[in-house]
Amino acid sequence: MPEKILIVEDEAQLARFVELELQHEGYQADKAADGREGLAMMETGEYDLVLLDIMLPGLNGLEVLRRARKTVDTPVILLTARDTVMDKVTGLDMGAEDYVTKPFEIEELLARIRVCLRKNDRKAAGGSVLTAGLLTLDPGRHTVAYDGHDIELTFREFALLQALMENVNIVMSRNTLMERVWGYDYMGETNIVDVYVRYLRSKIDDVYGVKLLHTVRGVGYVLRV
Ligand code: CA
Repeated sequence: MPEKILIVEDEAQLARFVELELQHEGYQADKAADGREGLAMMETGEYDLVLLDIMLPGLNGLEVLRRARKTVDTPVILLTARDTVMDKVTGLDMGAEDYVTKPFEIEELLARIRVCLRKNDRKAAGGSVLTAGLLTLDPGRHTVAYDGHDIELTFREFALLQALMENVNIVMSRNTLMERVWGYDYMGETNIVDVYVRYLRSKIDDVYGVKLLHTVRGVGYVLRV
């Protein structure tokens, strides 16, 4: 089965050019010309990768990404003419894998697509189910459950919980968690880890009346069972 790539891009000529190049490389390619159509197509979950323009009519690309991340974790490469740090940080923070600034050389885009798809293959292949007490996390299927009850997590909440569950009973510093979940080049608020641990507690500890997520004062967090 050829890998399926969705191109969300309103510049018809550019979209067509990328589509032809992708087909030439043996990928299957579909196009969406505005944000809403792109989001609807992403949410089908049938794509292996999405090339997402930021400046789009309807919904802009960052908004498409933000909404899509509630349901799918398809890797996304953002395309944009705006080479601003803010967009890059916002995009990566919202779960984009990579970022290409227009105008780009098609060879550069193709190389990044290959890296992105390989990374995702490894993620799916290395997806053995993690458990901590009655809590289970399946990296391959991107699902979390407590005692068989599904828990809905956003992209970052999932990544944070995965990091903690891979290190059960081991204290992890805020910096380690931040690098692991938000990346080395994260430039936003440093209390982001605390905010997301709070989200996780409200969805797991509070709901099931357990205490899995512990604060280690001055250090970080640990998931204890
Ligand atoms: Ca555009």
